[in-house]
Amino acid sequence: MKSILLPLTIMSALAMPTMANANDSVDKISIKNAHQLRDTALKAHLGFDIVESLTVEVGPRLAGTTADLVAVAWAEDKFKALGFDKIYKQPVEVRHWERGFAKASVVSPYPQPLAITALGDSVATPKGGLRGELVFFDSVDELRHSDPKDVKGKIVYIDARMHRHLEGKEYGTTVAGRSIGSSVASEKGAIGLMIRSVGTDSSRMPHTGNMNYQEGVKKIPAGAISTSDAMMLMAMKKRGKAITINMELETKAYKPKTSYNVIGEITGSKYPDEYILIGAHLDSWDEGTGALDDGAGVGIVMAAAHAIKQFNPKRTIRVVLFANEEGGLIGAKEYRKANAKELHKIKLAGESDFGARNIWRFDSQVHPDNLDVMAHINKVLKPLSINSGNNKAGGGPDVSILPEKGVPVFSLRQNGTDYFDYHHTPNDTLDKVNPTELAQNVAAWAVVAYIAAQADEKLLALPKKKTK
Ligand SMILES: [Zn+2]
Repeated sequence: MKSILLPLTIMSALAMPTMANANDSVDKISIKNAHQLRDTALKAHLGFDIVESLTVEVGPRLAGTTADLVAVAWAEDKFKALGFDKIYKQPVEVRHWERGFAKASVVSPYPQPLAITALGDSVATPKGGLRGELVFFDSVDELRHSDPKDVKGKIVYIDARMHRHLEGKEYGTTVAGRSIGSSVASEKGAIGLMIRSVGTDSSRMPHTGNMNYQEGVKKIPAGAISTSDAMMLMAMKKRGKAITINMELETKAYKPKTSYNVIGEITGSKYPDEYILIGAHLDSWDEGTGALDDGAGVGIVMAAAHAIKQFNPKRTIRVVLFANEEGGLIGAKEYRKANAKELHKIKLAGESDFGARNIWRFDSQVHPDNLDVMAHINKVLKPLSINSGNNKAGGGPDVSILPEKGVPVFSLRQNGTDYFDYHHTPNDTLDKVNPTELAQNVAAWAVVAYIAAQADEKLLALPKKKTK
């Protein structure tokens, strides 16, 4: 499917407005406070300072590694320093995998190096590398429909492309080659997988990311080459000669380790047992410093909750820094399981995990009777150039598994135009975070969480979806 970049004004016209008016469900003093909270947060630097602290003092923090536990300790200390009322952590069993060096080259017909990285969880190649002829596919679907005779004994190459998009739209479809490509290739007898990086940049920085080996299928090594090398390789293919490559990926799998969801709360003054959950994930890939993914989210939600504290919220603000999102929502699944009996107490939830650029739209997924509260939020967000969106929000990766349990969610949609230029590369670093745009995020998150915390009407669970 071809995607078109639409200007912001058209995008917002396409978004369904939430059909409700702001009534007296939120008292006037709280609305006044929300304006003040927004304006103060917009001028503050705390969000950026937190991202700086995490990326400088911890740096890369791949789940299962020592650095991951340093990040957990960092988060507890930071919550303490910011004066959160209650700080605790919840154990999560995570995969522990680490990479060594990665090297690849075209052996023939036109020898030259390729910039490559191993996909997360990939098995290692033999010492000296894996040598084989490439067989080309545009997508994992094309590979799935191919004749095993064409694949057997070869290294599968998938050239799935994605383009820059405000909402990062093609990621979901493009990423299939990365996540399941190796098992699909292996089932057809391939000896390795190489993919074009799932990214929108034009650079020699390959993008890593999670992959899943299917049970019972032989594990073959999998790597991603940079988009620049992908273009060169496709041009080489046009010359009609068989292409042989050598790729050497050094990786090591260890025993599973214990990591933690780290949680900090600002206790509610009137409804302490009702929670507004704002989250981000603490883990990151190992190649960059995880400034955008998801240091920014960590800075945004911690700073937003800290700002709300001065206004003594009625409901409890719960900040959850999820463990091992990158391994496949591992911390989030544990959170949902461990809190199964308490999920009805979460009155609204959202996760910030799409970088650090400005927010342009607010979406919710709440009970229709609570749309009036969302209307109050929309009004206070408006001066931040945030449009009102629809009532079909997903909530962000780690909280996306909560609506099926009735938990209402929201999404503050960020400009993701260049997010996939840096995503999961060595280039995901602090210099990509613009303090002014980050402060707009903090202001918006503070407004949403605070107004939801102040609503005097009951915040209801999502209506049960009719099952087919
Ligand atoms: Zn992320």
